[in-house]
Amino acid sequence: MSASIEPRYNLFIGGAEVPASGGGTRTLLDPATNDPLTTVAFGTADDARFAMESAERAFRESAWAGDDGAKRGRTLYRLARLIEERAEPLALLETRNMGKPLKEARGDVAYVVRTFEYVAGLADKIEGETIPVPGPRFDFTLREPLGVTVHIAPWNYPLLLAMRSVAPALAAGNAAVLKPASATPLTALALARLAKEAGIPDGILNVVVGGGTDVGEALVSDRRGRSVAFTGSGEVGQRIAELAGRRVIPVTLELGGKSPVIVFPDADLDRAAKGIAFGIFGNAGQMCWAGSRLLVARPVRDELLAKVRALAEAYHLGPGTDPATEMGPLVAADHLARVVGFIEEARGAGARIVTGGVKVDEPSLARGNFVRPTVVADAPPDARIVREEVFGPVLTVQEFDEADEAVRLANDSRYGLFAALWTRDLVRAHTVARQLEAGMVSVNEPPNSYPQTPFGGFKDSGIGFEQGTDTVRQFTRRKNVLVNLGAAKPRRSA
Ligand code: NAD
Repeated sequence: MSASIEPRYNLFIGGAEVPASGGGTRTLLDPATNDPLTTVAFGTADDARFAMESAERAFRESAWAGDDGAKRGRTLYRLARLIEERAEPLALLETRNMGKPLKEARGDVAYVVRTFEYVAGLADKIEGETIPVPGPRFDFTLREPLGVTVHIAPWNYPLLLAMRSVAPALAAGNAAVLKPASATPLTALALARLAKEAGIPDGILNVVVGGGTDVGEALVSDRRGRSVAFTGSGEVGQRIAELAGRRVIPVTLELGGKSPVIVFPDADLDRAAKGIAFGIFGNAGQMCWAGSRLLVARPVRDELLAKVRALAEAYHLGPGTDPATEMGPLVAADHLARVVGFIEEARGAGARIVTGGVKVDEPSLARGNFVRPTVVADAPPDARIVREEVFGPVLTVQEFDEADEAVRLANDSRYGLFAALWTRDLVRAHTVARQLEAGMVSVNEPPNSYPQTPFGGFKDSGIGFEQGTDTVRQFTRRKNVLVNLGAAKPRRSA
């Protein structure tokens, strides 16, 4: 794989690179300049159906599902090695397409490698149970692959979040059809090529680029699909759950957040400030679990804010490909307008912009989608910027006096994805961690995850978890088998 961007990318269906059936294409833009980057085939519902048909045939006819798990595991390890070997061009492709600093894209690719290794190790551990039953009978359960699984991914971690569900689905023996976000499909397409090289049979991993309401809905509605794994916004998640509900198929929804970060007065403020900056300015704040609401104990508020502000102002902005860059552009110009709109609205409502708050006008960056790390204080508690997901490098600040008030403010959100708390008090850490309504809680740690730790949210942040030891089993169905071992008339036990 060369490190340069190819002039044109196709869909990947049935083990082959194919143009969209209707000939459609889209030009992708470089987020750092808004100059054209490359052209990608842009499919329609027909291409979605073709991918589902290819997946269904591969599931039925290839040895993938029926092979013993250890063999699938070896193939997935092989894929992990190939991704590792091509890590640098893959990371560069992610950066050019999505905008994030190369250092972050390298971290994403390393995470994908670990994900494939982790699920490869689980592929031969998909075990059933034996269940005691009365009389001369034997009862056991089998775990079978679901069949064709549908995966719909967002643009903020294009490869990592796509593979977070695709990898375990493959490990369980399914055939996967992935729709990456329309703006950021390049690394998924590159990975599909590597999957073929690793020996994954044709049709077992398909990638269809196209619009959400067109390709996305066609995939979810197709009668051949047996499950949907969706990561994205709440609005689209609800629509997908509706469509999946009509088909009575399971769905996991990994949706948005408005995650609180609570800093108690006894916290190590230097570490907390670094963790807070990492958790809201990393990936330019385009993180579902960004720690976007700082809740700080009143006595340490000014000291902590000064530290966070200094860190925010030290961020070096630039194109992701520049090794000096610490924060890249937002993914697209319309997203930049949305983020700046949130800040302007808060300013208008009387909030105080502690730092940032403007689009970057430096001549070298003015054409890109850059916004400075922003801290907003004194916003009314019901302001949109405090309650809604901004999905940019924007931190709001609220104060509290007592721990109970901190927990109440933290839980006063329709979301429940992640929460962080910073304290040196062990009892408080454990007590508050249990009181927080969030699927993931960090103590003295910024948002951080591993393939072995469950990832998911409560409330409007979603249904179901990804990662962890259940991740492969979730892509199987359980079958109960009851065997009568006796003569024609089974003896009933007491
Ligand atoms: P989005 O919901 O707009 O799009 C996500 C995917 O769904 C894209 O591939 C899109 O093309 C597709 N889609 C859009 N409409 C569709 C439809 N009607 N039917 C089927 N598919 C459709 O989200 P986004 O803007 O790409 O991503 C940002 C959102 O994702 C944020 O809300 C963020 O919090 C969330 N997110 C959640 C997690 C998590 O793990 N919980 C991780 C990353 C991002």
